[in-house]
Amino acid sequence: MHHFFIPSQNLTDRQAILTGEQARQVALVLRLRPGERLVALDNTGWEYEVRLTAVSRDQVMGDVVDRRTAVGEPTIHLTLYIALLKREKFEWVLQKGTEVGVSRFVPVITQRTLAQDTEIKAGKQERWQKILTEAAEQCRRGRIPALAMPTRLADALAQHGAEMALIPWEEERGVGLKSALSAALPASIALFIGPEGGFAPEEIALARQHHVQPVTLGRRILRAETAALVAASLLIHEVGDMA
Ligand code: SAM
Repeated sequence: MHHFFIPSQNLTDRQAILTGEQARQVALVLRLRPGERLVALDNTGWEYEVRLTAVSRDQVMGDVVDRRTAVGEPTIHLTLYIALLKREKFEWVLQKGTEVGVSRFVPVITQRTLAQDTEIKAGKQERWQKILTEAAEQCRRGRIPALAMPTRLADALAQHGAEMALIPWEEERGVGLKSALSAALPASIALFIGPEGGFAPEEIALARQHHVQPVTLGRRILRAETAALVAASLLIHEVGDMA
């Protein structure tokens, strides 16, 4: 069944209403008919199975036939602090990170972040939000990952608040993800990924001051977007969420 995150005011224990682009998608693209079903989500952790009763291009209505805890959320809360990359790479990380289970994305401005990538043009946040919502619907997440405003690295390192914080750094030789997780499995992880040009030495030093652990992802140098997905996937797998 297709999943749709809909505004809470259009969703009660008894009825669901889809409007706008979602109604057009149901009526004209998916061509669902009354009697067929879809899953509506309120983005608070509940999902509602809905049997359609009326379908038109402007409005789709249905009766809620079941309300259950939304599945599809990882057992670990992973915040990905990702350096602002070129648009298509950054947006790729948003989509794929949602699929593997990232709970929150924080765009980070670092010393070597390319200037033109730090400018947040009007509409960029909305576009990113749309990418997250569509990816969460496609992969059947129970919630849409959160998207923070762009943050300076120094502030992110100081304020992450996660139980464990890791910063993949290609110069690190001693500690890998497995050993970083060997003690106890944290409930929340902050993961910091640098830009195309990497982190500056003083940024790694500042990370250490804030007890953010540099880790290696192996001897090969991964592109930033690859490193983000590989590290996020390995962490979510290590905590048993891809079993
Ligand atoms: N200094 C790199 C180089 O020589 O090309 C550029 C940085 S790399 C393209 C982008 C980011 O991915 C890094 O800042 C780091 O966070 C992560 N990364 C890539 N390969 C890694 C590795 N083998 N170990 C740890 N982190 C890695």
